[in-house]
Amino acid sequence: MTTSITDRKQKALLEELTELRRTKRALLLGHYYALPEVQEVCDYVGDSLGLSREAAKADADIIVFCGVHFMAETASILAQDKKVLLPAVEAGCSLANGITGEELARWKATHPDHFVVAYVNTTAEVKAYTDCCCTSANALEVVKHYADGRRIMFVPDRNLGSYIRRTTGLDMELWDGACHVHNEFTTAVIKARMAQYPEARVLVHPESAGASDETICEDPRVFISSTTGMIKEAARCKEQQLLVVTEEGVLYKMQEATPNKELIRIAPTAQCEHMKHATLETVVACLREERNEVRVAAELARRARLSIDRMLAIG
Ligand code: SF4
Repeated sequence: MTTSITDRKQKALLEELTELRRTKRALLLGHYYALPEVQEVCDYVGDSLGLSREAAKADADIIVFCGVHFMAETASILAQDKKVLLPAVEAGCSLANGITGEELARWKATHPDHFVVAYVNTTAEVKAYTDCCCTSANALEVVKHYADGRRIMFVPDRNLGSYIRRTTGLDMELWDGACHVHNEFTTAVIKARMAQYPEARVLVHPESAGASDETICEDPRVFISSTTGMIKEAARCKEQQLLVVTEEGVLYKMQEATPNKELIRIAPTAQCEHMKHATLETVVACLREERNEVRVAAELARRARLSIDRMLAIG
């Protein structure tokens, strides 16, 4: 009885969503960490780089961003003529909240000869003080591109920054921020899980605390990459077991790409609570009522956009 009520409710929501997205010319973008029920209804699911590109070229009047606040802000910066909606206002990000625009401006003033590279997981205010953005997919490329003759300061993720520093050998200044989820994936945690699954290919997101540790980086079983890169490697590699060191939402698309492989979470719960606020119900309600609009003011958007455009021009 309960199941049938749930099914009917789900069906009604899906029908309403189909009608709403058609009449309102809405595009639904979702991050890999979103709930499976949300990923299923999105027009595009991807990582930050892919989502930025989709937002920039969106042919729609409304973008519903099934992710967290800084992602919706990025969409608003790139698509100023569109209404960007966030299914739940409380969807924040511990990493993006780790630095404010004012803090970056003060830090920058103490390093006047440095070039600021910011991970895209930052607020619009921070992007406005940034010289070039990057994502985990293009961070190495962006930093190498701009390091020629310049000194780099990197915000806000010390784990991703340490990984870039170790891989490129560049002496960058790092802001001391971290994602509360990936920061739990320390060297000790990753190694303990690897010992439990000695045959597994180990896919590690560079936001993880252990990603820059020599004993992790140099282990031949380990592959460090963005979420999109991790999914591609999962499908490509010969191993049947995959130890996944990132937020567990990525398992949904990864399992679709590799239906016969065994996916193992790094921890029993590897979940970002902020990414789970978008449910089928909140997505439909926000589009129906056009609520929770995230709009970056024009002047701020213009300043923040320069750093995103520089990134998109690189790759
Ligand atoms: S997983 Fe971490 S970086 Fe991603 S949205 Fe959640 S808190 Fe932010």
